[in-house]
Amino acid sequence: MDSKQPPPYSEQSGYTPAQTYQPGGPTQPPLYPPMPQPPQSSTVIIQTTTTSNLVPIGSGPTRIRCPSCHAEVLTTVKSTPSGRTHCWALILCLFICWPCVCLPYCMDSCQNANHYCPNCSAYIGTYEN
Ligand SMILES: [Zn+2]
Repeated sequence: MDSKQPPPYSEQSGYTPAQTYQPGGPTQPPLYPPMPQPPQSSTVIIQTTTTSNLVPIGSGPTRIRCPSCHAEVLTTVKSTPSGRTHCWALILCLFICWPCVCLPYCMDSCQNANHYCPNCSAYIGTYEN
């Protein structure tokens, strides 16, 4: 009748499967590392937004949608001397007359037009003459 002892032992072994599942739990964390991948795809979306920054702008104030504050604004234009401006100044200095050197710097058509948002003063783009 001593063989009746094994049955309660098998009851204990029935509990052990539940414990072996817990060590199996740590296998779940390795599933988390692939999770950071979705944020990486979101950076690709940011790259597409930078391409949308190529707004068709002219030499004068242009009505565009600001990429920064997303408001429909009329851009503020600030003229800055470009490489062509210095080139024209050099040509004027060498071939025409040096007092005219300041001319390209006074003419907006010889300079780059930097467009800024009047709302959030964000840089929108440059129109190169
Ligand atoms: Zn803005």
